Amino acid sequence: MSNKTMSTQSQIPLVDLRAQQQEVQQQVNESLAQIFENTAFIGGAAVADFEQSYASFLGSGHCVGVGNGTDALELALRASGIGPGDEVILPANTFIATAEAVSLTGATVVLVDVDTEYLLIDPLAVAEAVTEKTKAIMPVHLYGQTAFVEELSPIARACGAVIIEDAAQAQGATRHGRSAGTLGDIAGTSFYPGKNLGAAGDAGAVLTGDAQLAQQVRLLSAHGSRTKYVHEVVGRNSRMDAVQAVVLSAKLERLAGWNELRRQAAVRYSELLAGVAGVTLPQQAAGNQDVWHLYVVQVEERDRVVAELNAAGIGAGIHYPYPVHLTQAFAHLGYNEGDFPVTERAAGRILSLPLYPHITEEQQLRVADALIKVL
Ligand SMILES: *Cc1c(COP(=O)(O)O)cnc(C)c1O
Repeated sequence: MSNKTMSTQSQIPLVDLRAQQQEVQQQVNESLAQIFENTAFIGGAAVADFEQSYASFLGSGHCVGVGNGTDALELALRASGIGPGDEVILPANTFIATAEAVSLTGATVVLVDVDTEYLLIDPLAVAEAVTEKTKAIMPVHLYGQTAFVEELSPIARACGAVIIEDAAQAQGATRHGRSAGTLGDIAGTSFYPGKNLGAAGDAGAVLTGDAQLAQQVRLLSAHGSRTKYVHEVVGRNSRMDAVQAVVLSAKLERLAGWNELRRQAAVRYSELLAGVAGVTLPQQAAGNQDVWHLYVVQVEERDRVVAELNAAGIGAGIHYPYPVHLTQAFAHLGYNEGDFPVTERAAGRILSLPLYPHITEEQQLRVADALIKVL
């Protein structure tokens, strides 16, 4: 037992959700008791309540709860009419799910590079990648930053494409005061447990200001049916369940506060690491209020640095070590090494430090000390 206590004290995980869970436990337990009492397990009032609260938290017109973030993106694409023969532009520096969602619709993934400073989709690269087949542009609000959607909008308008935001890492982030997930035509988000707003399992949502698009997503996510056994289109099953909805509702009440704690922790890292040779610190773009899903620094000899940090009990991570075009899954796209130099260079240098709302000052000091020593 003392060994276990010692090891939990000495380890600093990349993400620690226990304190978050404790804050909502009582409230969640009460809601769960009700769900099991009235056995409304899928959809129902709990899900509708969460959908409304989340839409109003973001300032979005409509929120449709679905099974997970990848489904949310795929349903957003399908509802927008994207399918075989269409091209969808997205950044090479993203989690694989953005590209998977496009492939699952039968559309073609077109990758572009990111900017050097924030590692977000590069609007100039998007403009160059547009063809007459381009039907959608998917900015990814990576690491808790909001991508520069206002620079993509004129490009989209000019070619008749829609903007589908991947807002999975930016819950509560804003750009010029507007929420990530409300800046394009439609957005998908994920409530995977480790996201800023995380469920107790898989869940996701589609957000849009367009009532008809929202209806279409709901239709597609529920077997193509509005009325039981009346199936208008071939849909699928991707619905949010009530258990996830009550967990999410309880956490949503605290999300702004937790995001603020993340922001403070990010500021603290930036102070602790200011002026340290060999490490490039993340910056917040002008106009953005980032929510620090991840605190991503860049270093030389990244693999050695990660290995030594991990050996010192620090849960450093890499988001993401393999750019989409260099994965086996997307080798068929035919891209080569060297095609997206900014993404590829970053993939060898990025390092995510432990960050979660309840990380302590003492833990951050230890992380910073360990990093400085390893460098
Ligand atoms: C987590 C994530 C997703 C996918 O979400 P799931 O709920 O795991 O399917 C999509 N895009 C990005 C950028 C993510 O971080």
